[in-house]
Amino acid sequence: MRTVFVNGSYVPENEAQISIFDRGSLFGDAVYEVTSVLDGKLVEYDGHMTRLRRSLAELKLPSPATDDELLEIHRELVKRNDLTEGLIYLQISRGAADRDFLFPGPDVKPTLLMFPQKKSLINSALAARGQKIILVDDLRWRRCDIKTVQLLYASIVKNQAHDAGADDAWMVLDGEITEGSSNNAYIVTEDGTIVTRDLSTDILHGITRKSVLQCAAELQLKVEERPFTVAEAKAAKEAFSTSATSFVNPVIEIDGASIGEGKPGPIAKRLRQVYIESSKAAGI
Ligand code: PMP
Repeated sequence: MRTVFVNGSYVPENEAQISIFDRGSLFGDAVYEVTSVLDGKLVEYDGHMTRLRRSLAELKLPSPATDDELLEIHRELVKRNDLTEGLIYLQISRGAADRDFLFPGPDVKPTLLMFPQKKSLINSALAARGQKIILVDDLRWRRCDIKTVQLLYASIVKNQAHDAGADDAWMVLDGEITEGSSNNAYIVTEDGTIVTRDLSTDILHGITRKSVLQCAAELQLKVEERPFTVAEAKAAKEAFSTSATSFVNPVIEIDGASIGEGKPGPIAKRLRQVYIESSKAAGI
C-alpha cells in the first residue's frame, strides 16, 4: 500500500481524507503538477515547481507550503514508497468551504495532496510502436496555460481516441493544432524543421517541451514555434508529442493519414534518447 501526503501528514492511502466541500472537486478550483521519477530522482523538478507557482498566482490561490517543504515531501514520498521509476502527483486546491462561487476568505486553508505512482516510463511499448492520433475540436476553456484539474474534456477526447482504435487526440482550433490531450504536439516538415505551436494561453507551457526544444537546438535541428495546420500535420514527414511522463512519444498516424513511413521517425527517436539521457543526468 502506498504512503501518500495530505494536509501535513503522511498516511496510508486508504486513510487519506479530504472534505466533501473541497473546492477542487466542487469547482475544479485546483492546480496540479506531475513530476517524473527516474532512478529514484526527480526529473525537471525546478521547472515543475516554477510552473506550479505561476498557476497558483494566476488563480490567486495561496500556497500551503514553501519551496523547501515541497521538495522535502517529494523526496520523502520517493523514499517511503521505494519509488525508482514513476511519478509524484501534487495537487493544491483552494480548500474546503461552504459552496459559493466567490472565493472563501483568508481563514480557509488550501488543500495540499501528493501521492506516488509507480510506472515504467523508459520502456514504453507505445513509444516503440508509435501513436495513432485522432483530431478533435479544441473545446476547452481558453486559459490552457494554467495547469488546473479541469481535465474532463481531455479525458473525453482520450476515450474518444481509444474508442476509435487510436491512442490519443490532438486538438484543433481554427484549423490549427493546439496540443494533445495531455501533451504538446510537434511535426517535422519535409525539410526537417521541427514545428510546434508557440507559447500562449492556447496551450500548456510544457516543461518537457522547453527541454526538448533545447535538445533540438543542441543537435542543430531547425525549430519553428508557430501554429501548424491540419493539412501540414497530415503531410508531415514525422510527428511526435512530449510530456513529463511520456518524454518524446513518436506519432505514426494522424486522422487516418500515415505519417512518414508509418513507423517512429529518426528525429523523434533521437530526441527521445537524448532527452532521457540529459534529464536523467540532471535529476535531483
Ligand atoms: N499539454 C497538456 C494539455 C498537458 O496536460 C500536458 C501534461 N501535463 C502537457 C501539455 C505537457 O506538459 P509537461 O511536459 O510539463 O508534462
